[in-house]
Amino acid sequence: MSYRNFPMVPRVVFGRGSFDQLDEILAPRRNGPGVLFLVDRVFQDQPLADRLPRREGDRVVFVDVTEEPKTDYVDRLRDEARTAMGTPDAVVGIGGGSTLDLAKAVSLMLTNPGSSADYQGWDLIRKPGVWKAGIPTLSGTGAEVSRTAVLTGPVKKLGLNSDHTVFDQVVLDPDLIRDVPATQRFYTGMDCYIHCVESLQGTFINAFSRAYGEKALELCREVFLGPHTDEADEKLMMASWFGGMSIAYSQVGVCHALSYGLSYVLGIHHGVGNCIAFDQLDAYYPEGVAEFRRMMDCQGVEIPRGVTRGMDEAAMEKMIDTALGLAPLWENALGPGWRQRMPRERVRALYERM
Ligand code: NAD
Ligand code: ZN
Repeated sequence: MSYRNFPMVPRVVFGRGSFDQLDEILAPRRNGPGVLFLVDRVFQDQPLADRLPRREGDRVVFVDVTEEPKTDYVDRLRDEARTAMGTPDAVVGIGGGSTLDLAKAVSLMLTNPGSSADYQGWDLIRKPGVWKAGIPTLSGTGAEVSRTAVLTGPVKKLGLNSDHTVFDQVVLDPDLIRDVPATQRFYTGMDCYIHCVESLQGTFINAFSRAYGEKALELCREVFLGPHTDEADEKLMMASWFGGMSIAYSQVGVCHALSYGLSYVLGIHHGVGNCIAFDQLDAYYPEGVAEFRRMMDCQGVEIPRGVTRGMDEAAMEKMIDTALGLAPLWENALGPGWRQRMPRERVRALYERM
């Protein structure tokens, strides 16, 4: 038996207003052309954009995450940065999971040749990327701690999974998530909640994952079964971190497999796709789904319905293929005999209800 030896984020700052330490954090990195900041476009013309510690030579790109990150967008951001500044001293991603994944992927593609689509998979990245920092402005995905950067490519939605993908530095400033609209906060927060349910109820569970998963679940309950307070933002930020740590050593399950299909074929964002799928999974995660519905009521959030209505047959088949292609997720959820327990017709029936 060989156990996975996985890397963790080596440096992290936590605290309100810690964003303003970024200048100090970047100072030792500044020995070349400048820093590349990739910032969610939602912050363009917002006060946060004025607080970026910009120095001469730095490049700020406000990234578009209307669609989840695609390999050709990563390649373009890389090419434009290279033309404008050569190899930057550092790459800093500021935003939700999409922006954090873009920053990780651009950092890696500045040092590894070719297209990011060539590296969708496990341990295909050969060289460390440019030094990179991640600063979440939305909490739940765990992208700030994970060893993957999820990308949609020409043939699949699959991450750049590698030891080199992990951020060198993370800044957790709960002030940055304070103004997230309630619906988005819920969708992304539920990503964390579902990571925990799927990890804790999976067959791959072990004491390492349980320790992080149980704590994250407890924090999610405090956050989503109560009012939105400053303290809740701090807890949500830590829940996301712990939820990400939990799945690092286990795996997600049925909900994520189905959500990937919704995302690949219909372009539905990860967080909302998870909520749409989870709402149909009483048979697999009865207590988790019941509690999820209580959280939804408490937060006054509704999830889209009827998203697969009127879908053509080819698209439905593609969605089923995408979901069933994620073997480790099914094996974690249902055990080694998962193929018998999850025939195509059952996946189709679940999708048809969404
Ligand atoms: P997101 O990054 O896609 O952003 C969702 C929306 O929220 C966008 O419109 C964005 O502009 C907006 N937004 C971000 N911060 C905001 C703020 N402070 N105030 C107001 N609006 C804000 O959302 P997400 O749910 O954080 O990330 C989903 C992405 O993360 C998907 O692409 C998914 O594939 C990826 N993901 C990655 C991992 C990983 O381990 N790398 C894990 C899970 C999900
Ligand atoms: Zn997720």
